Amino acid sequence: MPKITPIAAFNDNYIWLIEANGRAVCVDPGDAEPVSAYLHQHNLQLAQIWITHHHHDHTGGLAALKAAYPDCIVYGNSDIAGATVAAGEGVQIEFAGMHAGVWHTPGHTDQHISYLLHTSSGLHVFCGDTLFSAGCGRVFTGTVEQLFASLQRYNSLPQDTLFYPAHEYTAANLRFAAHIEPDNTDIQTALAQAAHTPTLPVTLAHERRINPFLRTAEAAVYRRVGGLTGRQPADETAVFADLRMLKNHF
Ligand SMILES: [Zn+2]
Repeated sequence: MPKITPIAAFNDNYIWLIEANGRAVCVDPGDAEPVSAYLHQHNLQLAQIWITHHHHDHTGGLAALKAAYPDCIVYGNSDIAGATVAAGEGVQIEFAGMHAGVWHTPGHTDQHISYLLHTSSGLHVFCGDTLFSAGCGRVFTGTVEQLFASLQRYNSLPQDTLFYPAHEYTAANLRFAAHIEPDNTDIQTALAQAAHTPTLPVTLAHERRINPFLRTAEAAVYRRVGGLTGRQPADETAVFADLRMLKNHF
């Protein structure tokens, strides 16, 4: 089992660092400085960088880290200028005897990808800005239908799967979740615990109980969304789209 550590960056970003045998993988280095400091402090060689999508707070540190670690392999989809390996759907990655797979998970951006790392302790998903605890990313260059499909795909994974989102948005997301499901005691409990950060990673089982964007099939969510918008959603995709719109204005 590798050590997986969140390195805080900017106001609320996490740069996840996976380390094994003196080598490290860094996920979405928006800023090189805190990553370099951690690598030096723990005497680690940066072997790989995994980029989920092109936004600057996920890629801003790429050039400096590549300059400092010229042998480092950079995985990213075709829209990532600094990538050394094009990582689209189905690409397989090896690190320290472990395997990771790539999923195309569009919605937040149309080229967004996720990294699924298999370890002896289970599955670890680096989901960038697609899933947050109790929430999901905003739609930028993808579509809300794509985002719904990407979250449904995550929801097909084993319930003990761990998710490693790139932002600490949990408390704000839970306040919206409580607005959607005022009687959900799991959301109230999670909100009380969200004062202690990092709140991440989170299991899929936990998200299924508290994340409205994974609860679009729940009758209470359907009714509440209909009540808030004044129209009954036609199907689950419509519930999801309305939730995303309501959250944008919450
Ligand atoms: Zn983003």
